[in-house]
Amino acid sequence: MAFDSLTEKLQNVFKNLRSKGRLTEDDVKTALKEVKMALLEADVNFKVVKGFIKSVQERAVGQDVMNGLNPGQMVIKIVNEELVNLMGSETTEIQLQPGSAVTVIMMAGLQGAGKTTTTAKLAGKFKLKGKKPLLVACDVYRPAAIKQLQINGEKQGVEVFSMGDKNKPADIAKAALEHARKNNNNIVILDTAGRLHIDEDMMGELQEIKEAVTVHQTILVVDAMTGQDAVNVAGSFNEKIGIDGVIVTKLDGDTRGGAALSIKAVTGRPILYVGMGEKLSDLEQFYPDRMASRILGMGDVLTLIEKAGAEIDEEKARQMTQKMKKAQFDFDDYLESMNQMKKMGGLSSIMGMMPGLGGMGGKMPDLDNEENEKRMARMEAMIYSMTLEERRNPDLLNPSRKHRIAKGAGVDIAEVNRMVKQFNEAKKMMKKLPGMMGGRGGKKGKF
Ligand code: GDP
Repeated sequence: MAFDSLTEKLQNVFKNLRSKGRLTEDDVKTALKEVKMALLEADVNFKVVKGFIKSVQERAVGQDVMNGLNPGQMVIKIVNEELVNLMGSETTEIQLQPGSAVTVIMMAGLQGAGKTTTTAKLAGKFKLKGKKPLLVACDVYRPAAIKQLQINGEKQGVEVFSMGDKNKPADIAKAALEHARKNNNNIVILDTAGRLHIDEDMMGELQEIKEAVTVHQTILVVDAMTGQDAVNVAGSFNEKIGIDGVIVTKLDGDTRGGAALSIKAVTGRPILYVGMGEKLSDLEQFYPDRMASRILGMGDVLTLIEKAGAEIDEEKARQMTQKMKKAQFDFDDYLESMNQMKKMGGLSSIMGMMPGLGGMGGKMPDLDNEENEKRMARMEAMIYSMTLEERRNPDLLNPSRKHRIAKGAGVDIAEVNRMVKQFNEAKKMMKKLPGMMGGRGGKKGKF
């Protein structure tokens, strides 16, 4: 996961600070030296690091300690705020044209950065928001790229416009816009051709597209794993064709995170989204504040809540909250809640965002995902081995029924007993939960 070692190092620095009652200027200096090293090792651009440390230092020295915070916490607060500033303070949305006007988005980037995949991911996001995107295959050099866009578009349920590889990208873009107007597509996303390195041909081609159609947003896709190269690429693209924002892909595979931290500061262009995996759903909006708290190892409860909100079936969650309130939770609901959990990416991905249980830098010795998934599968098998009556009325489960269930699910009776016990505990806990969850309605009620 990105920032793993940065988080670990920063946490060590802060642990030392926190153990001191009062901080001297020297303490702060030593701590900041370590923060500096940690950032450099995370491959953050050195000029950015220099500026960052300077601002933290200026603010840390001579600042009154706020009520309720000790000096160490105060430094953490400042570092956190400066990290947020570094990444652009606020979340930047892709600007769409008002009303029913068509928005044209041009995707650019080097070959292999993840452009085609990200294009399809983005289309999925727009579709979820009720838009009608059209994907356009402008990469005429690699027939495989056209095919890939078609396959991904189909997976997303989004139309793909292609004219094969015999036309100029600028002409394809023009024809696509015509098509969009006739078919009521309100967003046109152009997937352009990348090259292995920045070259004049590529820039010229992007320029031609821009001259042929009005491009409202130019989005650059860069690969986080290339570190500072990604930042340099962003700088060059911005200089040559002008970009509105950046999507950083493969943050899931990048342990250092330097690109994500430096792009805004170096190019002046914000990060819009980050790619967190190969699946078409693995694209997350970029929130500088949440990313900062992840980097500092404070967990990311906000992302967790949002993830839960977006992917849990609202109506089912509402019904479940009602049942929980009335303590009518049964094994069918237990199954359903396991399915919801799976949709959210499994236990460990959720736990990883909880403060103290992992976060970006944390380790979860007790939560081996594979083991948990196996356990969940066995639980499912046991519930499926119950009769409908037993699922709805768990009190029916006497020893002979439990034996039958164990046999049906291929587990031993002790495991059935364990599951029933866990179920009863969960039920007890849920009775207490609704009152604690506050008033945001059933949607987020599970948390
Ligand atoms: P393009 O040449 O820029 O169009 O790149 P592709 O879209 O073909 O992506 C190149 C490779 O990167 C593919 O194997 C993708 O599955 C993979 N990829 C793209 N985005 C991500 C991401 O966010 N995380 C991971 N792990 N892989 C990604």
